[in-house]
Amino acid sequence: MEILKVKTRENKEMIDITKDVAEIIRDKKWLDGIVTVFIPHTTAAVTINENADRDVVRDILSHVQKLVPRNGDFHHAEGNSDAHILASFFGSSVQVILVNGKIQLGTWQSIYFCEFDGGRNRSVYLEFVGRK
Ligand code: ZN
Repeated sequence: MEILKVKTRENKEMIDITKDVAEIIRDKKWLDGIVTVFIPHTTAAVTINENADRDVVRDILSHVQKLVPRNGDFHHAEGNSDAHILASFFGSSVQVILVNGKIQLGTWQSIYFCEFDGGRNRSVYLEFVGRK
């Protein structure tokens, strides 16, 4: 397993990690198979979405904060229940297909690390199944 380190700055933030994931794939000479991108945190997530128009990320973040307000009627004493809820909404892993060492994403797709309780030092776990 490989670990990618991500430093987040904002409380809510989506960071495009596609290039960082591709770099690890290149370094490790992973060729054809499946890469699992897993987030080992309860207040962060991973998703795949549009990379061309930054307004898409802006709209996602602004809208989910209306769906799950930071100061809702929560009991969790840590005060970050909104982040826990959003982490489960988005999910803790995605899988991408590798063909000849290249991630098979659509033209407009990127892999995003989703921070919901930042800024923090975060990790992304990467595991490969397939042919090297
Ligand atoms: Zn908490």
